Amino acid sequence: GEHTLLQVKHLIDEIKHIVLETFPKSIRLYTNVPQELWTVTGDATQLHQVLMNLVVNARDAMLTGGTLSITCKNIIIDEIYAKTHPEARVGSYIGITVSDTGTGIPAEIAERIFEPFFTTKEVGKGTGLGLSTVIGIVKSHNGFVSLTSEVGSGTHFRVYLPAVETNE
Ligand code: ADP
Ligand code: MG
Repeated sequence: GEHTLLQVKHLIDEIKHIVLETFPKSIRLYTNVPQELWTVTGDATQLHQVLMNLVVNARDAMLTGGTLSITCKNIIIDEIYAKTHPEARVGSYIGITVSDTGTGIPAEIAERIFEPFFTTKEVGKGTGLGLSTVIGIVKSHNGFVSLTSEVGSGTHFRVYLPAVETNE
């Protein structure tokens, strides 16, 4: 797809709208986009898909309700951090975090959830392609994804996208 300068705020506003219109009312939505957020370049349709796949998974993990939060911030990754986080790369990023207060992901399956066709959902309810699509798109944008999850408490996925260097 075509890469253009993107305002992450617009992307999140679109997702917010869909969530508010189509998700169960038992799911509360919280979003936060700081004013001074850096910009990114990317394929708007693909990055929309990334966020949709993450929020749909969050919804599916909160069948009895909960809080979905979508937040973002500027993040600088230095050598020290990169050394202890194998997926991370040194640089300036925008981090978009999608969190839920759902089931959480058991450690024994966490390694496998990014594999194509891996699903724990009933036949017809999940293709197992959501997260492999997320990884594919994010990698093609020179970004990466981190995951923290605790069974019984919830899950945070964070998408890191390289920030655009701007000269003022
Ligand atoms: P699908 O949603 O079709 O099952 P995904 O690739 O989107 O496929 O996700 C794979 C699996 O990862 C899910 O079936 C589920 O077990 C787990 N998973 C993903 N996101 C979450 C989440 N937010 N909370 C709990 N489990 C999750
Ligand atoms: Mg999914």
